[in-house]
Amino acid sequence: MKPIVAVVGRPNVGKSTFFNRVTKSRDALVDDRPGVTRDRLYRDARWEDTEFTLIDTGGFLERDDDPFAGHIRVQIQQAVEDADAVILMLDGKSGISPYDRDMIQMLRNVYKPVLYVVNKIDGAEQETQLADFYSLGKDNFWPISGEHGYGVPDFMDELVRVL
Ligand code: GDP
Ligand code: MG
Repeated sequence: MKPIVAVVGRPNVGKSTFFNRVTKSRDALVDDRPGVTRDRLYRDARWEDTEFTLIDTGGFLERDDDPFAGHIRVQIQQAVEDADAVILMLDGKSGISPYDRDMIQMLRNVYKPVLYVVNKIDGAEQETQLADFYSLGKDNFWPISGEHGYGVPDFMDELVRVL
């Protein structure tokens, strides 16, 4: 079995964009188990010599009025159960959101690798956007641009290192 990596985070942080970049055009499998697990896509991916399966979470359930009380909490719990490693994606363009601290708190005692990513850092000059995130109490955030690719190779090296 290939290791499974789940990408979690608020709607609109860029999870699907990252997922599509990393998995390129490989066919996605929609999980047809009933309930919240419908809301995820599985696709095989590979970085250098390491193969893994990436899960994109959050699709049609994203329009809930209270996303954290609802599906994001469930999404994170599911991801932690099902995956071998979790990527928590935050949004470097919109900055810290009220839910970011809660999500980090939920992941704090998880005994699986958790990688913290600040997405939408489209170039080196935007890395200053990271500063605020350090107030969330984690000491390492990976700056990436899922859309343009900035920071992705370094981050992927780290991801496969922890698998
Ligand atoms: P999801 O809801 O977390 O799956 O987010 P999406 O992947 O659908 O992206 C939400 C929006 O953010 C879209 O308009 C994307 O074009 C934009 N976006 C995603 N990644 C990046 C990025 O790296 N840089 C910038 N500037 N925009 C991004
Ligand atoms: Mg999405």
